[in-house]
Amino acid sequence: MDYFEYRDGVLCAEGVALPEIAERFGTPCYVYSAATIARHYRVFDEALAGIDHEICFAVKANGNIGVLGLLADLGSGFDIVSVGELERVITAGGDPAKIVFSGVGKRVDEIERALEVGIACFNVESEAELERLDAIAQRVGKTAPVSLRVNPDVDAQTHPYIATGLKENKFGVDIARAEALYARAAEMPGLMIRGVDCHIGSQLTQLAPFRDAVKRVLALIDRLAERDIVIDHLDVGGGLGIRYRDETPPSPAAYAENIRDLVADRDLKLVFEPGRVLVGNAGVLLTRVELLKPGQSEDDKHFAVVDAAMNDLLRPALYDGWHEIVAVAPRGDTQARAWEIVGPICETGDFLGHGRELALAANDLLAVRSAGAYGFTMASSYNARPRVAEIMVDGDIPHEVRARETVADLMRGEKRLPFV
Ligand SMILES: *Cc1c(COP(=O)(O)O)cnc(C)c1O
Repeated sequence: MDYFEYRDGVLCAEGVALPEIAERFGTPCYVYSAATIARHYRVFDEALAGIDHEICFAVKANGNIGVLGLLADLGSGFDIVSVGELERVITAGGDPAKIVFSGVGKRVDEIERALEVGIACFNVESEAELERLDAIAQRVGKTAPVSLRVNPDVDAQTHPYIATGLKENKFGVDIARAEALYARAAEMPGLMIRGVDCHIGSQLTQLAPFRDAVKRVLALIDRLAERDIVIDHLDVGGGLGIRYRDETPPSPAAYAENIRDLVADRDLKLVFEPGRVLVGNAGVLLTRVELLKPGQSEDDKHFAVVDAAMNDLLRPALYDGWHEIVAVAPRGDTQARAWEIVGPICETGDFLGHGRELALAANDLLAVRSAGAYGFTMASSYNARPRVAEIMVDGDIPHEVRARETVADLMRGEKRLPFV
């Protein structure tokens, strides 16, 4: 459920008409709905009622300070993958004691900073990282809380680029090797074993892989208990999918029920790292049609060139991500036809959607839906295109939570060679 709805024929974000936002802040821009994010967080949290849990929003899905601040105020923790994300969370008012740090290649300086602020847990992805973490923690006189990210070897049945739980992926350690690694970690004075972690992929629309993964991890926890290695939390990662088109992802309630019985009698806290499901449908990319390039005949391709491009929203170009594209003010005075919605970038892969039935004219506004997750965070300045503004609507008020970059911003720090 989201708060993007048509009123009097015009698409609104909560109480604000999108043309008003385009007028005031320019296009392209991302528009988020605060009420939608808050609703998604609450629904997820309430689904887990009765299970001891922590929700750690995956910052890589949307790292805007306004978004993180809103979630922090709702009580969310955070899953980070870099020191940059750590600083974002702290700036937004997030609690370091609710941060888990994932990622296969944490640098020394990143680990030092995370130890300094006192995060909840390092999700360690290799033996080499265990050793590195132990050495750094001892050097700075701290004990690092750790989970091992294990690879439960389940097929998440999602796009290969976002499936992460198979043996062949770079992530985590083979669950068969995990016991030996935990035994090693238990002997490292700089480490304190806290949990077991897994994350099997993203945009999952089926429940069975989650249940299989949790079962396998619980079996590992039991084997560890026999060695007197006590685990106090199980981090099940993120990955719950959303509806972009016609997917039927399980509800947060079904997702919780899917594993509730497995953990019911255990003294175990569950950590969740949802990203997409909290913010994906809470954002749109607002773009304007620059011009139309209809084909010679009706069978040719017809191009609608818009002012947003693959650098602003990479998912279609990167993994054929499908986003619904709608007219902000649908018109009845023009014939609909199948438009290729493309950006101005010099790449054939620069498209936002293929063959979309829309009635369009130059200067029309379009909303690319479900763009709240992995939208702005994946944006680049390719073709020297400044990154776009981000607007968060809260009721009747649109807040500019990130100003549009300028070309001067793009050139900051660059210079010519000093010629003699
Ligand atoms: C990407 C990622 C997430 C979030 O995934 P979603 O599909 O957005 O829920 C959570 N945990 C880890 C370790 C990740 O890499």
